[in-house]
Parts: sequence; structure tokens; C-alpha cells
Amino acid sequence: MKNQLLSQSPQEFITTLKAHNIKKFYFVYDDKSKSVKASHKVLGEIAEYFQNTSFDFEKHEGMFFQVSSKYDMLMGAFIHRTNRGQAAGGVRYWSYNNMLDYFSDGMRLAKGMTHKNALAGLWWGGGKGVLAHNNNYDKNDKSIREFIYKEYGNFLTSLKGCYVTAEDVGTSVEDMENIFSNTRFTTCIPNSKGGSGNPSAPTARGVRAGMEAAIEFLGEGTLEGKTIAVQGLGHVAVPLIEYLFDRKVKKIITCDIFPDVVENAKMEFKYFNFEARVVHKNDVSILSEECDILAPCATGGILNSDTIPNIKAKIICGAANNQLAIPSEDDEALMNKGIIYVPDFLTNRMGIVNCADEQAGYVNNDPIIERHLSKDWEYSIHQATLRVLNQSRESKIPSGKVAIELAHKLSLENNPIYGHRSQLIIDSLVESKWELK
Ligand code: NAD
Repeated sequence: MKNQLLSQSPQEFITTLKAHNIKKFYFVYDDKSKSVKASHKVLGEIAEYFQNTSFDFEKHEGMFFQVSSKYDMLMGAFIHRTNRGQAAGGVRYWSYNNMLDYFSDGMRLAKGMTHKNALAGLWWGGGKGVLAHNNNYDKNDKSIREFIYKEYGNFLTSLKGCYVTAEDVGTSVEDMENIFSNTRFTTCIPNSKGGSGNPSAPTARGVRAGMEAAIEFLGEGTLEGKTIAVQGLGHVAVPLIEYLFDRKVKKIITCDIFPDVVENAKMEFKYFNFEARVVHKNDVSILSEECDILAPCATGGILNSDTIPNIKAKIICGAANNQLAIPSEDDEALMNKGIIYVPDFLTNRMGIVNCADEQAGYVNNDPIIERHLSKDWEYSIHQATLRVLNQSRESKIPSGKVAIELAHKLSLENNPIYGHRSQLIIDSLVESKWELK
């Protein structure tokens, strides 16, 4: 890697920042000069890399960062596109080997949220928070978490609302509560505080809705009597299995890497035709089970050139993010094999749908949320899945690509009330020298 700063570990990078007396920094896209601007000269090589080399950069409107005052962790807000509204997406707490991985993850995830939110018809833009864990500290230490998430709340307040956060991989509802104590720009706070809480059960309902649309598309009736293979037995998979048995599926085959998780599920579903096994993390045998539908609900990248040739399911529809290892190739390979792929960001949208508007108040069975699970609303998962699959069949373009093209078009529409307000907020942060405050 040529770029010296990007090859540094987050800890080395923080040392570099300190040597230049930098506590806060940013990169923004300047539409007039069509270039990425860095807040500090010394970070110019990173801006240049984003603009000229990065695969994940796509004119991200703004990326703002701060070094935590106590634990040397890097906190960031990646804002991709905000025409539809403030950037919304969860904050990830993760360990990164180098700064290139950190920035790439944030940019890719923020872009994914733009697509997910736009295709869901939400008046929100796309963004993501990323906190780089410092491996010198215990990730599960309660007091450290409380400190950094409260600080993250202040960080979001300083960004004046161009990014609104939520729960994501590595974060919890308790963390959101800590963020909430210092900012109003967060969602997924606990039900007891008037928030939407954990979004996993609604996500599972959304995945089932995607499956039902795909079955209808194939003219194969309903879920009744179908066999489903589910990878993972986590927060989404367990309610999904329950909802699938509600629809009288014939059999469910699952696996997880943790024996206790498998045992608990076996107990929970002991009166059903349910098979669960413990697997090693590299064991992908679940993907080649004889079944009607395969539901990846564990990790990303599992649909690739090694696994696709062995898949026997007619439909793939699951909650896991970024299921295609190389989207441009794997999407096509699935289509050529005659497998119906329901794009992950289409079917797993309920996580963000469930929390996106909670700042306006959260009510049970909210019709604004429920319509995403209906069969007839224009932007519902059902309708969006049918639209994408039909267009894919007609155009012979893979479904993932069709979905991204649709989402891209929608993401450029300006919010009917606020216009492109978040861009104005970003401009004002730059003008007011946010990085020096
Ligand atoms: P989770 O961590 O609760 O569950 C994932 C489960 O998969 C765990 O039990 C884990 O042990 C298991 N697992 C990991 N690697 C495995 C492997 N190789 N083989 C079999 N099992 C394996 O996560 P979750 O909240 O249930 O989310 C599942 C996926 O859906 C993730 O990719 C997540 O990003 C995505 N997603 C979740 C939500 C949500 O609302 N929770 C929303 C959108 C997307």
C-alpha cells in the first residue's frame, strides 16, 4: 500500500494526529471543484486516495472524525448522500487492522444505507458511524463503553444533525441510551425511554415478506410446505424461524457456531420439524442443503464463486448484510444458475425502518412502519421485491444490480420539506471551522 497514513493502524494514526495537534478532522466533497477536501493539509494524501483510487468512495458528502479524549479510539460519522434527508444508519464498534480498512468499511456501509433507505421510500439519506476499538482496552468494559458512547453523543451534537445514528454490529440498546444522554441525534433507544428498542424481530418479519414475494414471483404459492435452510441462529434468525413455522413451512434446517445457541433453539422448536447443528465457522454446508429457500442470517460474503455452484435452493432471501462477496460477479452467477436472489438491503430494511422515525414518537403497530410489511403499498418489501425481480427477468440484469439502480435514482430526490438541508449543515460545519472547536 503506497499511502503511508492509510497503512497505519488506528493507534498509529492517532499518534500521528496527536503529533500534529489534531483532535478533529474531516473530508468533504466539494461539488464545485469536483474534489475531496481535507480539513488539514497533512491528511491531503488520504483525500487524494479517496478521490482517485478508492473503490468505496462515491462523492461522500462528508466524513467527520474525532479522537476520544480518554481511550484513544477513533469515532467517525460517514455521510454518503443526504438528498432525501439526514444521513441515517447504525454505528458499528469494531477492530480494524489499518486505516484503509476503517475508512473503506465506513464509506461502503454508508453507501449501502443510502440504497437501503431510498429503496424503502424513507425520507432519510445514507450514513454510518464507525468506532474503531482500541485493543488495549476490554471491549465489554461497561464504564469504558459508557464513556465513549456519551462522548459519541457529544460528537453527534457537534455535527448538528447531518447524521443520525442507530444500533449496529457491536453496539446495543444500552449504548444508544448513553449516546442519547448527550444528543437527540440517535435512535434505537430503549422502549422504556420511548424508543424503538432492538429491531431484530421486525427485521425477521421483513425477511419473511421478501420470501413470500419471491415465491409469488415464481408462481409457487405460499410458504406452506416449503423447506428452508437458515444460516445462523441469532437475533434475527430465531424470530424468523418462529414466523416461518407460523406460515406452516414443512421443515427448517439451521446451524450456528455456538453449541449453547443450537441447544436453546432445539428446545424452543422441539415440537416442530426443526433440525439444527453446530458448525465450524468455515463450514458452509448449510448453503448447499436441499431446500426451497436459503436464508443467510449470519455473516456477509457467503455467496461467492466457491459456494454458488453448490447452492440447490431456488430462492435466496436472508437478513445478513453484504451477502454477495463480489457483487458485480456473484449476482450474475446466481442469475445464470436460475437462482432468485432477493437483495439483502431490500429485505432486511426493517431494522432501519423500525427506528428511523422514532424521534417523532414510537407507537406499537405504527401504520407508517407496518405498511412496509403490507402487500400493496408501493414501497413495501413485497412490492419492491416483485418490481426488482420482474425488471431483472425482463432486462436480464441481475436483481442486485437492478435494485441498486432503482435505489440510486430514488436517492437523488430531494426531501419534500427540508430539501438538501444536510448538505447546508455540512457546509456550515466547514465554514465555522468545526475541526478547531
Ligand atoms: P447475531 O449476531 O445475533 O446472529 C448471527 C448468528 O450467526 C450468531 O448466533 C452467530 O453465532 C452465527 N454465526 C456466525 N458465523 C456463523 C457461521 N459461519 N455459520 C453459522 N452461524 C454463524 O446477528 P443478527 O442481529 O441476528 O443479524 C444477522 C445478520 O443480519 C447480520 O449480518 C446483521 O448485520 C444483519 N442485519 C441484522 C439486522 C437486525 O435487525 N438485527 C438488521 C439488518 C441486517
